This record gives sequence, structure tokens and C-alpha cells, in this order.
Amino acid sequence: MLRGLMMDQPLLISSLLTHAAQNHGDTEIVSRTVEGPGKDGKGALHRYTYAQAEARARKLAQALSRLGVKAGDRVGTFAWNGYRHFELYFGVSGMGAVIHTVNPRLFPEQLTYIVDHAEDAYVFFDLTFAPLMEKLAPACRAVKGWVAMTDRIHMPQISVPNLLCYEELIAPESGRYEWPLLDENSASGLCYSSGTTGAPKGVLFAHRSTVLHAYASSLPDVFNCSARSAILPVVPMFHVNAWGVPYMATLNGAKLVLPGAGLDGKSLYELFEAEGVTTTAGVPTVWLGLLAFMRENKLKFSTLKTAVVGGSACPPAMITEFRDAHGVDCQHAWGMTEMSPLGTLCTLKGKHLALPQDKQFEIQVKQGRAICGVEMKIVDGEGRDLPRDGKAFGDLMVRGPWVLREYFKGEGGDPLREGWFPTGDVATIDADGYMQITDRSKDVIKSGGEWISSIELENIAVAHPGIAEAAVIGVPHPKWDERPLVVAVRKQGANVAREDMLEFYKGKVAKWWIPDDVTFVDQLPHTATGKLLKTKLRQDFKDHEWPAA
Ligand code: ADP
Repeated sequence: MLRGLMMDQPLLISSLLTHAAQNHGDTEIVSRTVEGPGKDGKGALHRYTYAQAEARARKLAQALSRLGVKAGDRVGTFAWNGYRHFELYFGVSGMGAVIHTVNPRLFPEQLTYIVDHAEDAYVFFDLTFAPLMEKLAPACRAVKGWVAMTDRIHMPQISVPNLLCYEELIAPESGRYEWPLLDENSASGLCYSSGTTGAPKGVLFAHRSTVLHAYASSLPDVFNCSARSAILPVVPMFHVNAWGVPYMATLNGAKLVLPGAGLDGKSLYELFEAEGVTTTAGVPTVWLGLLAFMRENKLKFSTLKTAVVGGSACPPAMITEFRDAHGVDCQHAWGMTEMSPLGTLCTLKGKHLALPQDKQFEIQVKQGRAICGVEMKIVDGEGRDLPRDGKAFGDLMVRGPWVLREYFKGEGGDPLREGWFPTGDVATIDADGYMQITDRSKDVIKSGGEWISSIELENIAVAHPGIAEAAVIGVPHPKWDERPLVVAVRKQGANVAREDMLEFYKGKVAKWWIPDDVTFVDQLPHTATGKLLKTKLRQDFKDHEWPAA
């Protein structure tokens, strides 16, 4: 082999922040704090720069060393999107330890399982979660100390072993610290998949995978991130690293706006406007809330250009509302914890620009094209490749440098099939490379030996003007094995009836896909990551009585 003669410089997370501090030293990071009311009665806004963030991340790294945290040790966080969490992202990974972001919305038993399984040496938490920490502490055996992410005057009155104060922890440090030159394959972050199927399993990211993911997500056909962007990740930093946005923003020197716990429509809208946000990212449920708030109050976005929506299927009606009411490009994205998480993003190609709007829209509702670095294929039950014709659907398989090889501590055995990671999603891929999820493999509705896509039926339901949210599940049926049932939430003031809904499906799907029944509920159950909790719905409606044919 003739070796290339370029420098062997590792891809490290710390280098993203030192780059930002040096080249975008005065670019702002704005956070809504959790400590108490600002002028508007919500968390006050905290603002500082990449240069200040880097200086504090170095102090944090020193403080962690002083506490005895070593390379490879896990440091847990229970925190919103905010500047101290940002410092932990870089300080913990930068010094060689592993930041373990925990999703506080999980059940307490899952939380203790996760903190215990990860053997977190220290846990950092926002004040919101102080009562939760008190509950979890007795069962978290490896934790040596609990650090409240606040200053002395806001310290919570809780009883946990070795309660520490973030600001006091970093204050005595000099900041004279050189980020260590780590192996780029060393672990940098840990995130447990939410365990909608079985016990949560840890996905262990590396410096290399994280930095490559940050480069890839910056691309024009992905987040189109630059030093002119102002990006507000609504997706929490405890949910697959806020889809990598904190790393990506830092790599580009983009202004970063962190909403703290203020995730309601009003708080978000005010922050978008006050900070001139150009780009945002989040799951469909948050946008439902924000768009409804804006509709009711006749508000418009004045700076927002792009909203990346993923984590569950983006209802087509949302893409049109963003476009027609706000002039915002709503881009559908797909990924999973095991993929760091980005896999695809949906943007048009040059040849699509001359198409009429409805033809463009048919493309935009798909989950999108693979980001270079991610390879995708669909296979049938025997593992044979299926054609990329936009029609054949099968199990979606992926591979790439930011796709998981094995779960933390080898949990669950070898997850790969001949070098490919099975995503658990069922999808089509068309000749242009656009992938469309038809279902999660366990959510497909199996009727008379054929498959019906629950996602497609849900999209139609929420396109009805009187429907706020809908889930479609397969319910046991004496003749057909399973038939689709719509469980829907009406919009406030709407009085859609079952018959209206069934009528609405006519002409939109094959006759045998039309659901057999509709029931209305006040709200639908969601998982900790904002997805419809269909396991619960299937359980609740397993004895559903079908109307007489
Ligand atoms: P978990 O798997 O633990 O629930 P993830 O956030 O990793 O949490 O979820 C990944 C899954 O979410 C994907 O496998 C897919 O089923 C679903 N998903 C993500 N984005 C989309 C999307 N745009 N459309 C449909 N499903 C999506």
C-alpha cells in the first residue's frame, strides 16, 4: 500500500469549539434559563459568546479532572437546551470522558436502570429535575455526586449524596487547560434508545462519528448551516444530541438559540422572533402546538426560513401550512438514535424546480435522500435486495461511519445483518434515491395477507380540517386478521363525525385500505421522544368492537 502523506490529525469534538472560539469568538449563544423569571415571567435570557463558552468548557474540564473523572468515565445529564448543557457537551467529551444525556421524560424505573447501566460517575441536572434526582439517587449506585446546574443562590433544597453547585465547581479553575489529543475513535457520548421495544439500549458515539456527522449535517441539502445562520434546536439536547445541532452550529459558527424549558407555542414564537432565528428542528408534535398558537393569534414568522421536521412522520398538512401561511421551507428528515441520528433529509433536485407545486409536494412528503456517508437499501423477508422503484417496500437497512456497530456493553448481541443495520422501518426507495417510510415494521397493519401503511392513513386523517392529531392502528379482526382503526383528536371547536372521516378517505387510497372505524379521544399517548405510543393504543383497543358491516 502506498500511504497518503497527509497529517494524522484526529477528528475531535474539542476542535469544533476551539475553532468557533477562534474564528467566531463574538457569535452568540442565547439561552432561556430555568432559574427563575425574566421580565416576561419566563426564564430570563442568558447570552454569551463562543469564546466565553470555550473558556468555561475548559474550566469545566479542569473541574471534572479534579473530581477524579477519567477518560472513558460516563457523566450523566438531565437538562434542557441551555448554555451549561452546551458546556458539558464540549467539556466532558473534550477531556476524554463520555457525556450521557438522559431523557428525563422516561419512567423513573427506566431512568434508574439507565443511570445504573451506564455507571454514571457524576450526574448534572437542571433545577427542574431536582425532585426527580432525589427520587433516583438511592438506586443509582455508581454516582459519586449530583451537580445542580446553577449558582449558589438558586441551589435546591434536596437530599442527595454529595450535592454540588455547578458555578462553584468551575469558579476556582484557572481555565489554563489544553484539550487532550485523544484517539478519534474513543467514545464521546452515550444515549439510550427510548425502549419502546424492550429495555433501553445504549448507543455509544465516538469523536470521529460525531465530527463527521456534524460536517455532513451542515451540507446545503441537509441543514444548510453557515456563519449566517441562527439556529434554534427545539429537539432536546437529551434526545440524540438535539440531532447533532450543537456540534453543527459550533462547527459553522452559527448563532445558537437554546429554548430551555419553554417549549410551548408562545415562548417558542417569542424567542424565534426576538433572536432572528433562521433555522429550526423538531418533532411534529411541537410544531402542531406552535402552528396552532400562531393561527389563533394571527402571527407570522419574520426571519425563519427552514424548519427541519422528523422523529416521526411529518404530516403533509404541516408542510403546506409552513409554506403557505409562513413562507417557511419545511424539510422532512429521518433518522434514529443508532444513526447519530441523521439518515435522510428531503430537498428537491434541480430537475424538480420546474415541476408544478403538487408534483414537488409528492416528493417533499417523503423522508428524503440519503446524506452522503449513509448507505441505504431495502430488502424482503429473506434479505434479498428490492428494487428502487418507489413501489416495492421492505425492511430498510443502513450502514455508514455514524451508524451503530454494537450497543453499549454488547447488549442485545450482534445487531447487524451482514454488515448492515436493520432500522426496524419499512420503506420504499425511488430511482432518484428518495426514501419513504411506510411504517415501523411492528406498526404495519396486516389485512388479509397484505400490508397497509398506518402512516399513510394517519396523514390523510390529519389533512382533514377538523382533526388535530390521529393514530391508525391494526386491531384484530375475525375475518381479515387485522383492520385499520383511526383514533383521532378533534381540533378545538370541530365536530367531525365518524362518517365524515370515513367519507374523507374515499378516493384517496385503495378501497380495502379505508379504515373500518373511527373513534375520537381527547388526547393520544406519546413516548418520551414525542412519538405516538402505538403499543399502548393497540392494548387499549385490542377488544374494539367493529361496527356491523
Ligand atoms: P426510538 O427508536 O428509541 O423510539 P429514535 O428517535 O431513535 O427513538 O426513533 C427512530 C425511529 O423514529 C425511526 O426508526 C423511525 O421509525 C421513526 N422516525 C424518525 N423520523 C421519522 C420520519 N421522518 N418519518 C417516519 N418515522 C420516523
